[in-house]
Amino acid sequence: MRVSLELKDLAKYPFLKESQQFIGASTDTIEQFLAGASGRIAVRHAMERIRVSLRMAERDGNSERIPSDSIDVKLSISGYVLARIIISCAADRALMERLVRYEAGRAYAFLLDEEDMKRKYVASGVGLQLGSDSLPVIQYVETVAGLHEERWRLVNRDVVGGRVAVSPQEMNELLKEQIRVVLLRQLPLRVPEKVCSMLGPQVGEIRDAYQKTILEQFGAVEEACFPPCIQALATALTAGTNLPHSGRFALTAFLHNIGMGPAQIIELYCRAPDFDLSKTQYQVEHISGRSGTEYTAPSCAAMRTYGLCIKSDGICARINHPLNYYRLKKRKEKKEPTSPSD
Ligand code: SF4
Repeated sequence: MRVSLELKDLAKYPFLKESQQFIGASTDTIEQFLAGASGRIAVRHAMERIRVSLRMAERDGNSERIPSDSIDVKLSISGYVLARIIISCAADRALMERLVRYEAGRAYAFLLDEEDMKRKYVASGVGLQLGSDSLPVIQYVETVAGLHEERWRLVNRDVVGGRVAVSPQEMNELLKEQIRVVLLRQLPLRVPEKVCSMLGPQVGEIRDAYQKTILEQFGAVEEACFPPCIQALATALTAGTNLPHSGRFALTAFLHNIGMGPAQIIELYCRAPDFDLSKTQYQVEHISGRSGTEYTAPSCAAMRTYGLCIKSDGICARINHPLNYYRLKKRKEKKEPTSPSD
């Protein structure tokens, strides 16, 4: 497929090999680059990228000013690369998830305005053939793993000869997910310790900003505002019931998402009669993202599939995720007005 990319396309889609080649010709080491004036500007670009990713999961890329001259395009792509380096130094899966979700949303917003050929070309750069009417099962499962609508579940799809049928419209929808999955698969990058220590102040700032974001989103932890499913799991745990793996996962991921630290979560598990500190510590840290495991609490649809949905009050009818229940209940408790998105 012959498609000519313009300079600004390299800034729009910094993950393409052409974009990486564009900045790859320098003879400087990364340490030398970071110590120079261009490095300092690129770090600023990187920090802005990460900050935006913390404030919002996705972004309308069309509102972003895209550079078109060579120097600014290089700085923009360097900012993308450095953001991934800083996040890798922070070694927190939640931060990586946020960054790739933002990058995928940003690129996808640009792609919506591109002509077919260019969209197909960028899609092929992340391994998705937009003209095709099916995907290999393994690729399909990996790509839809973060999508919770019933229609994406494999049992609801036509599978023929090891391929899953996907309509052209759905293939377009999957493009954003495919970018996200590919970028996430590449993280964390292997960054030399010396580089991480040069970026230490930025890593610290991002960790603090993330904590602050969680606190702003959820405030202090209030058990009284837990959704019925999570309350039921916590109660069952206290009563000495052996929770299934899906229950432990849902409870731990939920508590992690609302800002509870591993120590606080382990304290909750202490109430269980079969409490085993080292096993619990391992599980909690695993689910909290330290080892690259999915960390987001399951949606209501997924909770229903696991048989963990209680659905016992009016708020449940208005939300599709236990985290939204928690946010809404906290706002109601404070008698604050709710936004239309709730
Ligand atoms: S509807 Fe959602 S929040 Fe309510 S109990 Fe079911 S899973 Fe939990």
